[in-house]
Amino acid sequence: MKIRSQKIATGILGVTCLCGLSGCTLNAATGERQLTLFSEAQEIAMGRQAEPEVLATFGEYPNQEWQTYVNDLGQEIAATSERPDLPWTFHVLDDPLVNAFAYPGGYIYVTRGILGHFNSEAELASVLGHEIGHVTARHSVERMSQQQLAQLGLGIAAVASEDFRPYAGYAAAGLQVLFLKFSRDDERQADDLGLRYMTRDDYDPEEMPNVFRTFDRMQDASGQSRIPDWQSTHPNPADRVGRIEVQIARLPPEMQDGKIGRDSYLRRLEGLTYGIDPRAGYAVGNVFYHPDMAFQMTFPEGWKIVNQRQAAGAISPNEDALVVLTLAGESTPEAATQAFFAPENIQPGGRWRGSFYNFNATGSDGSTIRGIVGFVKHRDALFQLVAYTGGDSFSQYGDAMRRSLASFTTLSNRRYLDVHPARVEIIELPRDMAFSEFVQRYPSSVDTTTVAILNGVGEDERLAKGRLMKQIVGGELPSN
Ligand SMILES: [Zn+2]
Repeated sequence: MKIRSQKIATGILGVTCLCGLSGCTLNAATGERQLTLFSEAQEIAMGRQAEPEVLATFGEYPNQEWQTYVNDLGQEIAATSERPDLPWTFHVLDDPLVNAFAYPGGYIYVTRGILGHFNSEAELASVLGHEIGHVTARHSVERMSQQQLAQLGLGIAAVASEDFRPYAGYAAAGLQVLFLKFSRDDERQADDLGLRYMTRDDYDPEEMPNVFRTFDRMQDASGQSRIPDWQSTHPNPADRVGRIEVQIARLPPEMQDGKIGRDSYLRRLEGLTYGIDPRAGYAVGNVFYHPDMAFQMTFPEGWKIVNQRQAAGAISPNEDALVVLTLAGESTPEAATQAFFAPENIQPGGRWRGSFYNFNATGSDGSTIRGIVGFVKHRDALFQLVAYTGGDSFSQYGDAMRRSLASFTTLSNRRYLDVHPARVEIIELPRDMAFSEFVQRYPSSVDTTTVAILNGVGEDERLAKGRLMKQIVGGELPSN
């Protein structure tokens, strides 16, 4: 509700903007006049404030070598941009999704998922250049003035502290809605700027369309179900290839080739975590296991399970009921229960199973919410277990919710405890071979098409002796 009215207000502001007024400045990266509602200092403050939220939500990939490498490369490319003096900061997130994004002020994030898909340093340089382009062109600041400004700067804590305080875990799980969506024009501009920066740093521009080709193949292979996140907010990769090839052809000849860094990059990938890290939670059917914290919980049959670093939960097929598990901020169940019921709009109902309470809440729009909440001590941690739905649906979901909340228990079965993520291994081919022979001799725990995409090769391609290839090993999960 609040978000919508904000959008309308800033939309009107956009219409009445007439360049030439004092808020307009010339953008050095794009050469365009731009309405700037925010000073550079404000822009930096936004990115800086969001940084701890982003890191808490996704987690940093726990490998200092990777963090240093990506940050150093990012700094080098950003130094060639029109805004070299921003406090450029680059982080690798511990996330399996293929994603990269930029916050205002020069705060850039890439996932380990996207790193595993690159086949050269120049491919990474092109994506870093693209994200740097969003910052230098001030796309995120512009989008932000049209979107949830206040929320982004202040982050989840602020969003959750208002109407959604008791459901903070859900707010955290929905963090993506706070992410900025750029227009197609913004994306084209970021591609052009990325190309500019990578070539200024002497990288081979032909590696940029390779990245789009990889995304194109991922999209083809997955249908609609597993489109990489980076893709969903970006133009069709096939179109991007054609467009960027035209730009490359226009570059002066001395810029048309350069550093690629294929083998050195692939060697770095050795040991990189691939796919989900089951140590941080995984589901088999409707049972959720968390080996690192040694607990398990059964969610209602047929509900969609969502696992985020700060919350795990399940949502009903109609998306009108939730069960959410988060860590409580308090140290005792008594203090946590008291804090939960502190807001005026939440009233406790009867007790259930000793430590759980029914509750009624009134949403900001006046709607009624009914739910059950409880706090469970497990090892050194205190968990908040909450289930809720609209007042009218409680009779329908109540039983399933109670069964689910009551199922939280210690995970002690070694079969589900002893799991490990898949990782990348790098193979140097001892002789020429067909791709089909490679996957036979060096079997991966992912399907053949995925191996081909990860390696940027065709499934009927011949591979030359000495070529470095990615193999995915391990990561198998027990079945029920
Ligand atoms: Zn982009």
